Amino acid sequence: MTAHAPITAASGCSEPVVQRQRGQHAVFCGLTGIIWMHRKIQDAFFLVVGSRTCAHLIQSAAGVMIFAEPRFATAIIEERDLAGLADAHEELDRVVDQLLSRRPDIRLLFLVGSCPSEVIKLDLCRAAQRLDKRFNPDCRVLSYSGSGIETTFTQGEDAALAAMVPSLPAKAADSPASLLVVGALADVVEDQFRRIFTDLGIGDVAFFPPRRSTDLPAIGPGTRMLLAQPFLAETARLLEGRGATRLSAPFPLGVEGTSAWLDAAAAAFGIGQAAFDAATAAPRERAARAMERYRPQLAGKSIFFFPDSQLEAPLARFLANEAGMRIVEVGMPYLHRQHMAPDMGLLPAGTLITEGADVDQQLDRCRAARPDLVVCGLGLANPLEAEGLNTKWSIELVFTPIQGYEQAGDLAELFVRPFNRKQRLSVQLPAKAATHQAAAPTGGA
Ligand code: SF4
Repeated sequence: MTAHAPITAASGCSEPVVQRQRGQHAVFCGLTGIIWMHRKIQDAFFLVVGSRTCAHLIQSAAGVMIFAEPRFATAIIEERDLAGLADAHEELDRVVDQLLSRRPDIRLLFLVGSCPSEVIKLDLCRAAQRLDKRFNPDCRVLSYSGSGIETTFTQGEDAALAAMVPSLPAKAADSPASLLVVGALADVVEDQFRRIFTDLGIGDVAFFPPRRSTDLPAIGPGTRMLLAQPFLAETARLLEGRGATRLSAPFPLGVEGTSAWLDAAAAAFGIGQAAFDAATAAPRERAARAMERYRPQLAGKSIFFFPDSQLEAPLARFLANEAGMRIVEVGMPYLHRQHMAPDMGLLPAGTLITEGADVDQQLDRCRAARPDLVVCGLGLANPLEAEGLNTKWSIELVFTPIQGYEQAGDLAELFVRPFNRKQRLSVQLPAKAATHQAAAPTGGA
């Protein structure tokens, strides 16, 4: 365990204070992204090339979806494969053959790299190219790495989308402007945004990833892209390389974030204030009313974020500005300064942001601060709960639809829940203790 002194890059007192840290961290690997992406791209299949540990991770984490037709599996690299790469390639071809003959409905197959495939230097990119030649056009075969050696859990989505970018068709340079929303959103959220864009008068809108892998949006210099998720650095870079222009905006969490996010699109498409107000007034009003219900339960309470999902800064902005919470620290796995600038600019002055992780130092600061609520990964939640701290699992915020006006209240409610749970427990426990005391004399009689 290293305990590097943090390199401080402090800014003026009106801006957030950013510290960089290096050390041990505790987050899931990029395989975790399969759990929400397999729901989103409905004709895709994710074949993890990994160990039994990898199989166990996605099966147990995705166990809740057991009733759906599974769209992920693990090709286990056995120990014998470590001895010969040729064997591993043959085995992979055999598994893919079997899978695609049994499941002709699969239109996009991702070979997902893992720690073991990386360790034995199995070139999945080459394997995917070879298999793609064989199965295209019935099924495209792409690859990306979800290995814990190089990805945190939300980077899995970035890697998968980045792998898809080269397959996007090109849009003619003189095509009229179109909008591309980038990042997996729940279908219900996507539908709500589409309706608002239509009301705004932006007709040519596509979402990436698409629900069907064959509905790929065309990209070119006319593409204006709005990021819906804050962990898509590589995907955005590749889309910019294809000519797309990124619209700078906070992420669409809460009333403030959603309004500013939509406003960035409206400004890019020359939509005036009156039209913007007409399209957004009703849902904005509904969201503000929903927030009124939860704000009293959150206002004044302190919150500490461990670095995990990369959603931490937009969440902190939402909780500080719309729910009145006090931010102790915002830990983030990495800080993409350009993508994050609009949210950071809206954080309360002097908010401490830590980039990277040194989990021991963070635990020390968290224990010293005794915040009312801690947002962290599953691995830290149980020990912190045992110490009497109230926790919220950050992974839940990635699985749950939280973007947009209609979800603002639900998002606040997710942070109210741990307080309600604690309250219920504290009411139940004394009641139980009283029952025991009352029962004891009877039992002894
Ligand atoms: S990819 Fe690595 S970190 Fe993720 S489950 Fe497999 S072995 Fe574990």
